[in-house]
Amino acid sequence: MRQIIFSLTILLLFGSFTEKELKFNDYFEDKALRLDYIVAGTADRYEAYYEQLKEEPFWGGSKVNLIDKFNFGEFRVLVYDKTETTLLYSRGYSSLFYEWLDTDEAQTLSRSFYESVQMPFPKAEIVVKIQIREKNTNFKDLYKINIDPKNMFIRKDKQTAYKVQKIKNFGDHHKKLDVVIIPDGYTAAEMDKFHKDCARFAGYFYKVEPFKSNSKAVNFWAVDAVSEESGTDVPGKNEWKNTVLDTHFYTFFIERYLTCPNVKMLRDLAAYVPYDQIYILVNTDIYGGGGIYNYYNLCVADHPSAEQVFTHEFGHAFAALADEYEYGYENASDIFDMSVEPWQVNITNLVNFDSKWKNLVEDGTPIPTPATQEYSKKVGAFEGAGYVKKQLYRPTNNCKMRSNSTNDFCPVCRKTVEDLLKFYTE
Ligand SMILES: [Zn+2]
Repeated sequence: MRQIIFSLTILLLFGSFTEKELKFNDYFEDKALRLDYIVAGTADRYEAYYEQLKEEPFWGGSKVNLIDKFNFGEFRVLVYDKTETTLLYSRGYSSLFYEWLDTDEAQTLSRSFYESVQMPFPKAEIVVKIQIREKNTNFKDLYKINIDPKNMFIRKDKQTAYKVQKIKNFGDHHKKLDVVIIPDGYTAAEMDKFHKDCARFAGYFYKVEPFKSNSKAVNFWAVDAVSEESGTDVPGKNEWKNTVLDTHFYTFFIERYLTCPNVKMLRDLAAYVPYDQIYILVNTDIYGGGGIYNYYNLCVADHPSAEQVFTHEFGHAFAALADEYEYGYENASDIFDMSVEPWQVNITNLVNFDSKWKNLVEDGTPIPTPATQEYSKKVGAFEGAGYVKKQLYRPTNNCKMRSNSTNDFCPVCRKTVEDLLKFYTE
């Protein structure tokens, strides 16, 4: 739900890497390698530290589109051959740590976060780099490691404790977007409820465009991970439940912000199946959720708005879409570098509107666009987006990324989701 936004330009950073066509089978085996690391420090000074390597049975991603062409996210993982001359795989993502950097706590408290990246399993030695966005729009190196696939310490533990369910399956996971649903706060006695909830939420998903028109592009899986207790943690009300993923509300003191600190367990559970996106379904009727790009989604099972929240969060975690509402900040200049466009596709500060959705604006629509009845169905630039009231603009008056009062993505968000669906399913 909350996604801290830094102002970054759209750079064609990956352009030069795509010239040579890579053959998956030349470099990778059809399984996954996971690199876990800890990132720790304060807002001013932080470092990443090696935690573990793990071999996982499934590579859920594309075998064709190995190099990220979107330039979304606040981090990216780059996988090179041993000599660092050929980029073999890349992917953008965001993380809870990056959001935390913008909190008051990060100014004084030194804190650590567990993070994890998955890549296809290499046939030969590789060099992995993790880079982080700076406010000036560029990426800087955060971490680098040489990995030999013959390293005896690459863990190969088999996961066998839980059953796997195919909720919706339309075939080859390399050519589908695979979403794995992991339950939190469902006891053994509530597993039937979990299966019914999964089917219900998959139904919500296929009702929304462009998923509706591309329904056969998306597989849903579920892993029956059992919790000791029902529900989730609500620190603000001193309610604590022993659950498999330790999810909790009040992340960074925001009541409705639901997140999962136990990334290690989460990734272990996701690895039961091939996956591109992880969705945590939390067994509660309290309002809330969370979605972080290529990291994880969370939604509550039983709140009346859960249907709308489910696909809103997916907009963050799948397509890196920004929230299009105001929240807490007055001016964009309070949190953005106003000399460049934010990297998110669905917000603009009008510094370089041509690079955003100007081509979708009809002649005669004023920019900025007044939020009046006349323009209520038009694409324009409506002030108020990305948590700020002023100086930042959204594509339409309303969108799924702005409010729960509509179940539609605006044309800009929808196009982005369509492009990503194509990327995962080619
Ligand atoms: Zn939108």
